[in-house]
Amino acid sequence: MKKKAPKDFYNLTDLQDWDRASAGLEYPIRLGVFGDPVAHSLSPQMQNAALRHAGIDMQYARFRILPNELKDALKLVRELDFVGVNLTVPHKIAALEIVEKVDDETESIGAINTIAVRDDLVGHNTDGIGFVRAIRSEFSIDLHDLRVMVLGAGGAARAIAWQCAKAACERLVVVNRDVNKAKQLVAALQPAFSGPRVLGPVARLEAVPWEAGALKFQVGHVDLIVNATPLGLNPSDPPVLAGTLLAPHLLVYDTVYSRGRTPLVTAAMEAGAKAASGLSMLLHQGAASFEIWFQREAPLDVMRAAL
Ligand code: NDP
Repeated sequence: MKKKAPKDFYNLTDLQDWDRASAGLEYPIRLGVFGDPVAHSLSPQMQNAALRHAGIDMQYARFRILPNELKDALKLVRELDFVGVNLTVPHKIAALEIVEKVDDETESIGAINTIAVRDDLVGHNTDGIGFVRAIRSEFSIDLHDLRVMVLGAGGAARAIAWQCAKAACERLVVVNRDVNKAKQLVAALQPAFSGPRVLGPVARLEAVPWEAGALKFQVGHVDLIVNATPLGLNPSDPPVLAGTLLAPHLLVYDTVYSRGRTPLVTAAMEAGAKAASGLSMLLHQGAASFEIWFQREAPLDVMRAAL
């Protein structure tokens, strides 16, 4: 009998009646990404290519899980012998209250993007390491040498900001619509930036409101701008930054990814800056998740080709 392809995405009702929902598949689904929205996620392509290459007879699927369903969905994946899940918007911070264990770094970041289902649900965050590897591969430079401006203070921004602190980057500016969240993140990072480094008239670590004047001033004092908001995911979104703020000296990394260039990447390149979209971060965070789940090296080239 011909085997069924997985659905574009499953939901909590499917997990509650999993024998029915997963009947007839070629390989059992034992991994997935939980989010809302989730239909745009490219993780299944990448992870399924890695599973096939590694000869692991299971597959990875998308799950549209609403915030009030996360706890039940995680309970079910444990009962159903899943190996693990990734979490995306809006679950990364809420999941911290649900898992039983997290490593120290994930605890500091305050957000989880990967869960390993063992005797306990163990939370990890691979966004930070994915980001570092993406910056290195896109721009051939280490964070240590950069003055960084992160737009956003949610799960992805926190992981990125902690990684900048860990790499002892030259300067870090966190910009957020709700500036209080940026201030909280900066306060938590303060100990990592207390060393005697840098530099002229600007503070080494700063929280900044999302306002044209403040942004214009800061752009003159940073090398790398990172969009860690969802702006750019939808065609109707306003520009992340006005084109007049973008300049040739900048590196611009958009954590948002799409099949073509994102609007921010296009605008940055038009301004003469070097720019890259979030596909490389997706690749490297996904490879790190695979390594947590299977304790073996991820087939990076296979995953890259699948993306
Ligand atoms: P969160 O929901 O945790 O955080 C969203 C952040 O974006 C908040 O700081 C929020 O600000 C800000 N924001 C939301 N809407 C707007 C807006 N209209 N204008 C300005 N700021 C806005 O999400 P995550 O941090 O988990 O994810 C953010 C994005 O990062 C995702 O959409 C995804 O595209 C990208 N990402 C990419 C990855 C990759 O591998 N390439 C990995 C992880 C994330 P406020 O606090 O004021 O609400």
